[in-house]
Amino acid sequence: HDSTLLEDVKARIRDVPDFPKPGILFKDVTPVLADPHLFGRVVNAMAAPFRGRHITKVVGMEARGFLVGAPVALALHAGFAPARKPGKLPYKTVTERYALEYGDDGLQLHEDAVGRGDRVLIVDDLLATGGTAEATAKLVTKLGGEVVGFSFLISLDFLPGRERLGPEKVCALISY
Ligand code: AMP
Repeated sequence: HDSTLLEDVKARIRDVPDFPKPGILFKDVTPVLADPHLFGRVVNAMAAPFRGRHITKVVGMEARGFLVGAPVALALHAGFAPARKPGKLPYKTVTERYALEYGDDGLQLHEDAVGRGDRVLIVDDLLATGGTAEATAKLVTKLGGEVVGFSFLISLDFLPGRERLGPEKVCALISY
């Protein structure tokens, strides 16, 4: 069992104030990814709650959800599918729009990325308001997949993301 993992990860998450805009404290996980031993422990811990739950697909959101989602998929012997900003995926897509603080944004999945019978785990580096993860869950549902849960490296629990997604479905290694 990996008892020092949480402290080790916390020590390597870099806080960058006022990025990408004033008032946002950006949680930079690149120092975690740069350490091969720590990265492996993080991937194992993010996959652990979902071992034995018959996950068939992991969906990771652009862009840092690719970085953690793909190795979590391999750890669970599941396939990986990228959820991308509109216009980036080459084949036929389904689209979900979601509200941002100012304006709106969208995410797409390839229409054959997930199908009926798929048991899906949604993975990203960080949960904030939950808008991104909720839109991803809607895409999975649209394609006939079942959202089994969500795994994040970090959850900002002063924001309503966890409540919005259904707290019983959300796992996060570190909460602030
Ligand atoms: P949200 O849709 O509000 O839950 O925002 C989640 C998405 O925005 C994730 O893809 C995160 O990578 C990114 N994000 C939001 N807030 C932060 C933050 N403080 N530090 C790093 N990434 C963030």
